[in-house]
This record gives sequence, C-alpha cells and structure tokens, in this order.
Amino acid sequence: MSGLILSVEDLTVSFDGFKAVDGLNFYVEEEELRVVIGPNGAGKTTLLDMICGKTKPSGGSIKFKNRQLTSMIEYQITRAGVGRKFQNPSVYEDLTVLENLEISYPKKRNVFGSLFFHRAPEIVDKIESVARQIYLDEQLGTKAGLLSHGQKQWLEIGMLLMQDPELMLLDEPVAGMSAREREQTADLLKRIAKGRSMVVIEHDMAFVKMIAQKVTVLHQGKLLAEGTMEQVQNDERVIDVYLGH
Ligand code: ADP
Ligand code: MG
Repeated sequence: MSGLILSVEDLTVSFDGFKAVDGLNFYVEEEELRVVIGPNGAGKTTLLDMICGKTKPSGGSIKFKNRQLTSMIEYQITRAGVGRKFQNPSVYEDLTVLENLEISYPKKRNVFGSLFFHRAPEIVDKIESVARQIYLDEQLGTKAGLLSHGQKQWLEIGMLLMQDPELMLLDEPVAGMSAREREQTADLLKRIAKGRSMVVIEHDMAFVKMIAQKVTVLHQGKLLAEGTMEQVQNDERVIDVYLGH
C-alpha cells in the first residue's frame, strides 16, 4: 500500500448537539487528488475547518503524515504543510498580484527573532513561476482588487503555492467562474496536484468530471459513498440524496 498522507478517523463535531460531521473516516494518499461532493450542509466545509485547525473536533483523530493535527493550532498545521483555500477568495485587494504572492512566501526569522525579508532572486523566480501557473503573469503589477472574481480565486491558489504545501485543501474553487475559467482551473489543479495531495470540495458536477479520480460523497456529516466518478454517479443512494435533483 502506498503511503497515506491524511487519515481521518471517527471524526465528529457537534454544534449545540447537532452533529455537522459524524463519525467520519476519510483517507487521502500521497499525490492523490480527491474530490468531495455532497448536498449543502453535508459537512464538507466543516471537515476542512477541522483539518486546518479552524474548528476543534468533538472527537476522533486527524493524522497528517503521522502527526496528530487535532492537538495543533492553525499556524502549526500550516507550517506542517497543510494549505487551505476558503470558499470566498481572501486576497489583499490594495496590493498588487506580485505583492500578494510575495507576502505569502514563508518568511524566515533572524537570530533576534525579527522578520527580515528582501526580494532575493529565489523569491522572484518563485513568484514568476507561480504567476505563470495561475495565468496571472501579465497582471503582476495589477492591484488584486481589479481582478475578476475568477482571477482572485487563482491568485489565492497562487498564494498557497508560494508555501508549497504537501496537502492542499480547496473549498469550491470555481465558484463564480465563467465556463472558460472553469476549464482553465481544471487544467491548473491537475498540474499543481503533481507531487502533492489535494482535496477539492466542489458542487459543479461538470467541473468534478474534468478533474476527478476518486470521489467522496458526504451526506449529513457521514460518508455516503466513495469511488470513481462512474461508481458514485450510478450509486442509488447518491442519486437519491444528491444527483437526482
Ligand atoms: P457544506 O460545506 O457541506 O455545505 P457545512 O460544513 O458548511 O456544509 O455545514 C454543515 C452543517 O453544520 C450545516 O448544517 C451548518 O449550518 C452547520 N454548521 C457549520 N458550522 C457551524 C458552526 N460554527 N456553528 C453551528 N453550526 C454550524
Ligand atoms: Mg461549504
């Protein structure tokens, strides 16, 4: 068996007695691109919130490369190699594309503990290569606030790429995108998934088909089905609760 990068076991969280995620087991392999689908309120975002440390589980375990994430706080989880993109792009609108990418580069601290940072060639190379990947190499000097919604989504993916996470978590990355931008995003995700693991939450089934290898279907905080796109599409339970309407 090839290595698991993420093992989620018996994960549960209740909000005032309501179990948003309920005894979930979820495993992701090294270099796997996993898509998670499910109706609104299924617990998809809450699952990502718990992996990245934003929400504390009520029970269960989240192991990332044999480190228990449930006992770590957000910045430690980021530093361990888990990068998360939220549903709404959170870029710095007043900064340029270049500056947004630059501030996302992990900063080093000197012996006195203060931040030191200058635009070393290694950082410039990285910014240029990331900008090319996210289709924004012509927009490096543009203020992020002037980008289209889709371009802001790409920029946020680029900001994650600056940190080179081993596991990337993306929550509805094509929300608000045009058909053309969706296709470009599918290509982008397939490219950047090489050499890392990725979990993508998505609603848009046409988009899911473009990128999916293995698909996990959540429903009411539980695992409903898991398999190839074809397997889950033909699964009676999935059709009933999700795809049927
Ligand atoms: P999805 O992303 O699959 O649409 P969510 O994970 O956002 O679903 O939400 C799952 C359920 O948990 C929803 O019913 C939502 O209202 C509830 N929920 C999520 N976060 C909280 C919270 N912080 N407090 C109370 N209820 C929450
Ligand atoms: Mg959600």
